[in-house]
Amino acid sequence: MSQPRCNSYYNATINTETDYPELEGDIRVDVVIVGGGFTGVATAVELCEKGYKVAIVEANKIGWGATGRNGGQVTGSLSGDTAMIKQLRNKLGTDAEQFVWNMRWRGHEIIKTRVKKYAIECDLKYGHLHTAYKTSHINELQQTYDEACKHGMDSELELLTKEQLPEYINTPLYHGGLLNKRNMHLHSVNLCIGEARAAESLGALIFENSAVIDIDDGVLATVTTAKGKITANSVVLAGNAYHKLARKKLRGMLFPASLGNCATAQLTSEQAHDLIPKDVAVYDTRFVLDYYRLTADNRLMFGGGTNYSGRDSKNVANELRPALERTFPQLRGINIEYEWTGMAGIVLNRIPQLGKVSNNVFYCQGYSGHGVATSHIMGEIMANAIIGEQLEFNLFAEMSHLRIPLNEWFGNQALALGMMYYKVMENFR
Ligand SMILES: Cc1cc2nc3c(=O)[nH]c(=O)nc-3n(C[C@H](O)[C@H](O)[C@H](O)COP(=O)(O)OP(=O)(O)OC[C@H]3O[C@@H](n4cnc5c(N)ncnc54)[C@H](O)[C@@H]3O)c2cc1C
Repeated sequence: MSQPRCNSYYNATINTETDYPELEGDIRVDVVIVGGGFTGVATAVELCEKGYKVAIVEANKIGWGATGRNGGQVTGSLSGDTAMIKQLRNKLGTDAEQFVWNMRWRGHEIIKTRVKKYAIECDLKYGHLHTAYKTSHINELQQTYDEACKHGMDSELELLTKEQLPEYINTPLYHGGLLNKRNMHLHSVNLCIGEARAAESLGALIFENSAVIDIDDGVLATVTTAKGKITANSVVLAGNAYHKLARKKLRGMLFPASLGNCATAQLTSEQAHDLIPKDVAVYDTRFVLDYYRLTADNRLMFGGGTNYSGRDSKNVANELRPALERTFPQLRGINIEYEWTGMAGIVLNRIPQLGKVSNNVFYCQGYSGHGVATSHIMGEIMANAIIGEQLEFNLFAEMSHLRIPLNEWFGNQALALGMMYYKVMENFR
């Protein structure tokens, strides 16, 4: 049974709602993609651009999952980067660091180019502010700045003192900041739908309200829904934290964590400008952080907190309000018009998981809350793998991951414990 879109700001401001048919009958394509979020749709665009016949099969609506619920922040902080460099050193030697550094920004280029090429209206804006929650965190911002300068990004970053912060944000909360002019923020659902329409214009078949219930992999693979079947040379599983397919191989690898997000009533443009004068997206330096930004229609979209029980929170607005009002006391009592939750796919070592369930069934998942840019990078790597350029795919597929094969509930408890440890350690940072 398919589910409607959630009560998010994004869904209330979709440019043009999708209306793709349910899959019925038998169809033959080159590649069938299960899941119509960023991963699935980005992979489809790449393949269609290379001339492949592709079908996307989505259980609900395009962009229904985490893609339609996130903070819309396109960040260069790749999840699992340190662990990734460590593992890649075996294969790439001293080039590992540069490989990961380049990867940080690859998703930005893909998104920017695609938005321009297909004229996708998704409120794309530039600028992130990473804020020091404690004075002791300023050192970490300095290290990030130094590393970026080492890679020639000097002109795109600026370290800000506490005194310089009011030019960017009107809160007494922080002790300094790092401005990044390359990072972006955008309307996620409009981007994803825009990309789906781009894939469609290149010949992709798109089906909504069509949950895949079975995958049969032989020489060709067949995915089955309630009313139809698609046979293809390859299948890409792109259901991330929302799918339960191929459990034998994938059980215990990815853990769903529920993240909350909300958007206030519309502010006047003066109020909005007073809060975040340069319209940058903001997040702080804590392990469990607040992240927020203005929307195109002048709301404050505010997210934070993580629930590792694998279940959604019941009252997100009440949970987020104290942090929102602590950040901006001038918004005390403001009406919160949209509140929603979404499942992010958390990986224990935070490295995105790419691999094969069988010879022709690929999977791609687990960006640990950093998926807007990463899903686009992985879409490119998946598409390359399918057309036979497997170098980067193999680098990821061969990375080692901790697996807790018993039950996802145990994994979520382990994650919750781990996060509690980090929260305690936070006091000593
Ligand atoms: C609240 C929240 C805030 C976030 N904020 C940010 C942020 O600011 N910046 C950032 O970089 N990342 C952020 N993320 C993470 C980011 O949104 C995700 O990493 C990214 O959207 C994952 O995309 P995806 O396509 O892999 O998965 P999803 O978007 O979850 O898509 C999976 C799709 O698969 C479909 N599906 C599942 N099972 C089946 C099936 N059997 N048959 C057919 N279809 C199926 C689902 O319906 C769903 O639409 C956030 C996540 C959340 C939840």
